[in-house]
Amino acid sequence: MGKHRILILAGTTEARQLATALAERTDYDSLLSLAGRTAEPMAQPVPVRSGGFGGSDGLADFLTTEKFDLLIDATHPFAARISHNAAIAAGRTGIPLFALRRAEWKQEPGDRWTSVRSVPEAALALGTAPNRVFLAIGRQEAFHFESAPQHSYLIRSVDPVTPRLDIPHALYILATGPFEEAAERQLLIENRIEVIVAKNSGGTATHGKIAAARALGIPVIMVERQQPADVRTVETVKDALGLVDHLFSPEMKRGV
Ligand code: NAP
Repeated sequence: MGKHRILILAGTTEARQLATALAERTDYDSLLSLAGRTAEPMAQPVPVRSGGFGGSDGLADFLTTEKFDLLIDATHPFAARISHNAAIAAGRTGIPLFALRRAEWKQEPGDRWTSVRSVPEAALALGTAPNRVFLAIGRQEAFHFESAPQHSYLIRSVDPVTPRLDIPHALYILATGPFEEAAERQLLIENRIEVIVAKNSGGTATHGKIAAARALGIPVIMVERQQPADVRTVETVKDALGLVDHLFSPEMKRGV
């Protein structure tokens, strides 16, 4: 019997962990797909392809031409476009899809969050009075803060923000997580940060700044997720593996 072909839309730690687990299985043949944005992507345990598909039609064509049996959307919770395309392509081709998406963070006692729906909304929520802002949303949407040039920004990203923002007060740092709470606390104190802008990414790797903000009483403008609601979703790699096995179980194939 041939192997089951699985396309994993990736770009997250969980996608790599899932691929690692699937690589150990002889009945699955997985391909991991990256957007190709990161200059030095991490090594992956299964074959990798890189770059966009050309929208939902391109993804649908790729799925059928390459004879995939399952599509797993393990992209970042804020990669909304590819998730939307995955849902459309799966619907069009009839190829099963599920999402692996870590649980979002919930407010805890001591947190001072203002939840917003988008990055532009976060820029507005900073208000008119100048503040010292830690911008921890990645580089792609940082440009939205050009609309709020009265603030001083500490901007952290994995790859450089290019072009630099057209604002008078910005300090750029490059760093890749995970970030520990103690180091985050020090960063916030040293830079006299008054407010943090973050995405509700969930997981542990970037939670340090949220815990540090809580400890220091610093407010957080939290950009919440906007993902397709009707896609079957699991929150852990273990549950994803269980679902893969279930979807390829003899019972499922017989349609019972
Ligand atoms: P996005 O806005 O949802 O997607 C933009 C376009 O990039 C998609 O339409 C698709 O191009 C291509 N693309 C995205 N992910 C892809 C993948 N895994 N494989 C092949 N093509 C992909 O995505 P994004 O927010 O730019 O994120 C890009 C990548 O970075 C994703 O893999 C994501 O998991 C990762 N990431 C994102 C964030 C974040 O905050 N957004 C944080 C950490 C990691 P076509 O339409 O041409 O197919």
